Amino acid sequence: AAMSEQEARYRRSVEDAATVGFGARREDAPATITATFSNTPDADPALPSVRARAGEAVDQPLAELTSPHLGSTAEIDGVVATAAGAQAAWAERPAAERAELLLEAARSIESRRDHLLAVMAAEGGKTVAEADPEISEAVDFARYYADSALALEDGPMTDGATFAPDRVVLVTPPWNFPLAIPLGGVLAALAAGSAVIIKPAPQTPRIVEAGVAALHDAGIPQDVLQVVRTEEDEVGRSLIAHADIETVVLTGASETARLFAGWRDGRERGPRVYGETSGKNALIVTPAADIDLAVADLVHSAFGHAGQKCSAASLAILVGSVADSDRFRRQLVDAVRSIRVGWPRDLGTRMGPVIEAPGEKLHRALTTLEPGETWLVEPEQLDDSGRLWSPGLKEGVAPGSFFHLTEVFGPVLGLMRADTLDEAITLQNATDFGLTGGLHSLDEDEIATWTERAEVGNAYVNRHITGAIVQRQSFGGWKGSSIGPGAKAGGPSYVAQLGSWVADGQPS
Ligand code: GLU
Repeated sequence: AAMSEQEARYRRSVEDAATVGFGARREDAPATITATFSNTPDADPALPSVRARAGEAVDQPLAELTSPHLGSTAEIDGVVATAAGAQAAWAERPAAERAELLLEAARSIESRRDHLLAVMAAEGGKTVAEADPEISEAVDFARYYADSALALEDGPMTDGATFAPDRVVLVTPPWNFPLAIPLGGVLAALAAGSAVIIKPAPQTPRIVEAGVAALHDAGIPQDVLQVVRTEEDEVGRSLIAHADIETVVLTGASETARLFAGWRDGRERGPRVYGETSGKNALIVTPAADIDLAVADLVHSAFGHAGQKCSAASLAILVGSVADSDRFRRQLVDAVRSIRVGWPRDLGTRMGPVIEAPGEKLHRALTTLEPGETWLVEPEQLDDSGRLWSPGLKEGVAPGSFFHLTEVFGPVLGLMRADTLDEAITLQNATDFGLTGGLHSLDEDEIATWTERAEVGNAYVNRHITGAIVQRQSFGGWKGSSIGPGAKAGGPSYVAQLGSWVADGQPS
């Protein structure tokens, strides 16, 4: 069957991204934490813990945040008008000057690493091992998009055409990567020459404010980069669908993408929505795998940030003798049981809380077995907050079942079995999504077969399937994991999509 253009593009990027053993060191926790800090009232003082810099709050009341909470459409119009008014002067600065400001932003983020770590632990529930590389990713985005700004000015992609940036870009990030994803979107828009408005996820406004403060301190003008908070009511809707915003950069659940698209209904003008949405990701393990590595990568991919990543492994599809191997099962069970669950302020914590008490889908995944399933490790609710759960591992997930096809976004890994690699790939491709996927096999023919057939935006061979790296593994989805013909974040055409090419001599 003929491939659509989008499929063909992702097919190519799957091949580019298929890498062997990349990037593992990046996610190691730093050996020492220099953070100093505050909101640890009931932490055991004998334990090393994350501390905020003296005098820098990590848990201030929402009413004390500096970003405005907008309660009327007139206020939204005002913010958009400010951005639109500031954009031309920003775009007229030479690319080298904008790039230098982005590099300054990188230094500014880096210089606040300890404070950002503390805010991410307190507000986002991120362990140090998860939050630290996320700060690195934000720094990487700043440096990479600085290069993109220069490249855009240097070489027009189309002869006789000039790049005209969007005037106003709106970034609507998720709470699970509350620093790198918001700042990535913002920095790309700034690199393009756009003015940008960011609306933080309601769960994580403090981290976004702390990150944006780093950018303002680096010299990014206040009117070119504004943070606004709104409810998701008429007012929020008037921002998402605003006629003077060209592009909304969305990262979030598929439901959010559909909601946004619905808000556009009936409008003649309104922004394009680009972005990355949900995933239901599987890692296949064949008898040709290095089993020790496969177990470590499964645990890392399934339980990092308590499974709350679009990229997380939710399924392990075990082929033939791996599915029947007691040794494999025992090793995986031991690894899952050994994960130390707790609050991120304790540096010994390997898996932190979920962002809020589980909603319907996650609650079902944590507490209910579907027909044919059995627990190898049953999750337990560990305290009254409802947020702290021990990790779950179950086998017998049936093809076409709830757990096979539904994104649950939490710390549960399900095992499926397949007789052959072909059957495993069919199970992996059966969901509506196509974000990440992995294969553990040392057999070159199996690697080639899988790489050819895997319908995922990010394909990883013999590596964990989370933690894409800017420039090396640009990140984005395929099928239901992508909205709009958006380019992948941290990749070559990401900045260029935030504008259009205008034939020289034409008014832009
Ligand atoms: N970029 C992240 C990763 O590669 C995932 C982002 C997300 O969950 O939205 O793990």
